Amino acid sequence: MVRAIIIDDEELLCELFAAMLSQQGYDVEVSVSANGGLERLRTGHFDVVLLDLMLGSVSGLDVLEKIRQMYYPPVVIVMTGYGSTEVAVEAMKQGAADFIMKPVDPMLMDIRIRKALDERRAQRLAITDGLTGIYNRRYFEERLEEETRRARRYGRPMSLLMFDIDFFKNYNDTCGHLKGDEVLRKIALTLQRYSRETDIAARYGGEEFVMILPETDGQNASRLADRIRMSIAETPFEGESQIPSGKVTVSVGVSCLLAGEEGYDALERADRALYMSKQNGKNRVTAYPGDGSEP
Ligand code: GH3
Ligand code: MG
Ligand code: MG
Repeated sequence: MVRAIIIDDEELLCELFAAMLSQQGYDVEVSVSANGGLERLRTGHFDVVLLDLMLGSVSGLDVLEKIRQMYYPPVVIVMTGYGSTEVAVEAMKQGAADFIMKPVDPMLMDIRIRKALDERRAQRLAITDGLTGIYNRRYFEERLEEETRRARRYGRPMSLLMFDIDFFKNYNDTCGHLKGDEVLRKIALTLQRYSRETDIAARYGGEEFVMILPETDGQNASRLADRIRMSIAETPFEGESQIPSGKVTVSVGVSCLLAGEEGYDALERADRALYMSKQNGKNRVTAYPGDGSEP
């Protein structure tokens, strides 16, 4: 069932919309104030927000901006009165999925909501790895360029982590591919758990994962990498006692963007650092350049 919230200061209108939508099978809540609505959005889960752009003294655009900054922002459809196309256009520019003119037609509203949700789902699928649910390589590469540009423009640090599961072929051979897939999912979850809101964790390839850490220097990146490595080593995985190493672990490579460098150069250094972790016995973290000297 689609969860919707209506934020509109006209109480009667709210009730009318709510009745309309619940009749069409939506799970609807109503908030007659901007702050009340935002509070509900922070504490509950909603798929779609129907946001009035004229909320008394509060600007709907400000509310929109606050919604957009949320971790998993819901789809926002703005509602405007006759003659306020300008503000509707502005709202669309700021990320609203669509707008509806009041008085609202129930059928039209339903179709607009479903279209907006479909669009959102398609966008999400395009950047998501099907097996693990975290970002895919394509999205990672896009963001790597973006974050590199940002870091360089503002002279800020940015680090990369590259993970590869140790002896994963052994695990698959012993426990089977389905259990192997479970391992990939669990590791992806761990990366997500350790991510801050601005970090980007992605599946890079078969059993390789990457993380972009904006605003993070090499030392802090290595520290995080080691916490993740330990967490994975301590996570129980089904059947792992039967593989030669006795447990599922990862090797990690760390790099920090150098002045004048492209994101891909830093990624290549993370990859080389990962290779060194493998060479030196696996289940460890290596930073490149580790101590400033060439490996
Ligand atoms: P190393 O410690 O040097 O990394 O050795 P390894 O065995 O982990 O590395 P190798 O590159 O030899 O093997 C990678 C394995 O990852 C082989 C492949 O079956 C497995 N793999 C890759 N993608 C998937 C996947 O989507 N699901 C499962 N279950 N296994 C996968
Ligand atoms: Mg590999
Ligand atoms: Mg491996």
